[in-house]
Parts: sequence; structure tokens; C-alpha cells
Amino acid sequence: MVGLSDVVNDGTQDNLISIVVPIYNEEDGIQAFYDRTKAVLASLEGLSHEIIFVDDGSHDSSLQRLNDITACDPHVKIVKLSRNFGHQIAITAGIDLARGGAVVVIDADLQDPPEVMSVFVDKWMRGYDVVYGVREKREGESAMKLWTASLFYRFLKSVVSLDIPVDVGDFRLMSRRVVNQLKEIRERDRFIRGLVSWIGFNQIGVIYQRESRYAGETKFSYAKMLKFALDGITSFSSMPLRVATILGYGTSLVALVYACVVLIQKFMGVTVQGWATIMMGILFLGGIQLICLGIIGEYIGRIFNETKGRPLYIVEAVVNQDNSLQSTRGRNMTTVFRS
Ligand code: UDP
Ligand code: MG
Repeated sequence: MVGLSDVVNDGTQDNLISIVVPIYNEEDGIQAFYDRTKAVLASLEGLSHEIIFVDDGSHDSSLQRLNDITACDPHVKIVKLSRNFGHQIAITAGIDLARGGAVVVIDADLQDPPEVMSVFVDKWMRGYDVVYGVREKREGESAMKLWTASLFYRFLKSVVSLDIPVDVGDFRLMSRRVVNQLKEIRERDRFIRGLVSWIGFNQIGVIYQRESRYAGETKFSYAKMLKFALDGITSFSSMPLRVATILGYGTSLVALVYACVVLIQKFMGVTVQGWATIMMGILFLGGIQLICLGIIGEYIGRIFNETKGRPLYIVEAVVNQDNSLQSTRGRNMTTVFRS
């Protein structure tokens, strides 16, 4: 099993900016993304750059498009994962490979404008370790998605003691010392924006307008969003477990009070009530018990995931990687992939 985390990657360069871009079926937007990003990077004086596209198991022509770009631009690298591992893991693979003094994570769909990166770089040069984008306006997203996202960020803030900024995604710049710390954290059910808040150092937000997708559709179904939201909550808070305990105590108290009422009624000679009361009691208690079991199950599932100790991802091929990777531990991972 091969993971980039195994790679001894000490070829970091202070004046290099690494751009990490997760790609999952983005064939129609890749070229436009590359053109806009390249223009921004060319305007950064005194800094060189590398763009690391992480192909997260795309099954359209994304890889072919990426190969075409790599053939003309030695600054562009591709990490092809062996299958679809999900957005957070794709980002992790790119960050593991990055050698820059600063690493920027950005989606490929142009929802996060590449031009904002120059503001990120400016803040980084002024000494900030993390510069994250705060979404002020979000174009082209359904009212339901906006509402659920807003609810989630605020709920997360209320249950997590850590200061995770609201309306902030993974579009951000991280300094080398933050990246080095992040690389040490190998949690499986990852919530990277939370992990970066947890790492600390000097962090600052930059407000920007989130645009509509340039092409294609969102890869996040409501089920995936729910899983991601639960990852965020369970990675940073045991509050839900406490809620389960409180629910247990609460229902026991209600049951006790009701038992007293039933006893008094019995001594007063009131005959047995109908079955509706009993049914309500059974359903109520059954519901509470299942909710509590579900909450515990969410945590146990994640413990199970961690204990298996599998690598976070498997790399199938790397394109345009330099010598530092080729010479690692006797494994030649640099497969030049041309389909
Ligand atoms: N993505 C990925 N793997 C996945 C899902 C998405 O690499 O399993 C990439 C996708 O190609 C895009 C970024 O992650 O560059 C964000 O995905 P998307 O735009 O669908 O998310 P949204 O902006 O709708 O939350
Ligand atoms: Mg998007």
C-alpha cells in the first residue's frame, strides 16, 4: 500500500506557492480554472508556483485534460488516486505532496475565485499562518443548501469549544509550519477546516463572494453533506453523547412523575385508561432509545474506522513529480500517466 505520507519530502521552498486542487469529474471546467489560476500566479512577483491537481477517481475525461495541461506546463503535477476517496482525502493527498512555503487549497469549479489568492498571499507575507475565505454571498446554490449550511455552521459553533469560523470552507492558504502540523494528523473521517483551527497560530479571514459553478454539478448529495456535518461534529465534540445522557435522565424523570400520577389515580379508584397512553409511552421511549443508540453508533463507527489503521488514500500515479519523490524508500512512485 502506497501513501504519499510515507514519502520523505524535505524539498520545501519558502518562495514557492503550492496550489492544491481536488478534481472529481470536472472535465468542462478544468481549462478555465487553469487559465484563471495561472494568470493570478503569474502576477505574484518573486514567487514561483506549483499546481497539484488531485484526480479523485474521476470517470470522465478530467485526467486526459489534466495530462494535456501537464504536457505544456512543468509547474503542474497530477496525483491520481486509485479510486474516489472523497474531497477531504483528495485535499490531504495534495497537501502531502506540496513543497511550497505556503499551500493554497481551492476547488476546481471556480466557485472560489482564484483572484482572491493574491489577497491570501499578501496576508501570508505580512505574517499570517492561515488565511481563510469567508463566504459572504453564495451564488447559484439552492435555498435548501444555503439554509442547511448556515444551520450547520452555527450548530457546530455552539457545540464545539474550539473557535471554528462560520461560513468558511476549505478555500484557504496555510503556511509551511501549519501544513507540517496538519500532515501529522492522520484522522480518517477528516474535517480539515476544523483541524486547521485546532492547530492555531495566526489566522485571519478574508471576505469574498462565492460564485456559481463554472460547469458541471455539485458532487455533494445531501447524504454526503450529512456525513460531512457529522464528521465535523463528532471530531470536535462529545456533546451529542452528553445530550443522549440528558435525554435518558429527562425521560426517566417524566416516567417517574407519570408513575406517581398513575399510583394516585389507582388509590382514587380511577379505572385503567385506554391504550393510547400506553402506545404513546412505548413509542416515545423507543424513539429516545434509538436516538441515543444512533448517537453512540456514530462515535463507535468512527472509532472502528480509526482502529483499522488503513492508509488515508492510495496513489495510482503521479505526473511531473520531481526527483525528491522518485528516490523515496526504494519505491518509484513516479509513474508518468498518459492515457
Ligand atoms: N471533489 C473531489 N472528490 C469528491 C467530491 C468533490 O475531489 O468526492 C472535488 C470537486 O471536483 C471540486 C471540489 O472537490 O473541485 C468541491 O466539490 P463540489 O464543488 O462538488 O462541492 P460544493 O462546492 O458543491 O460543496
Ligand atoms: Mg463547488
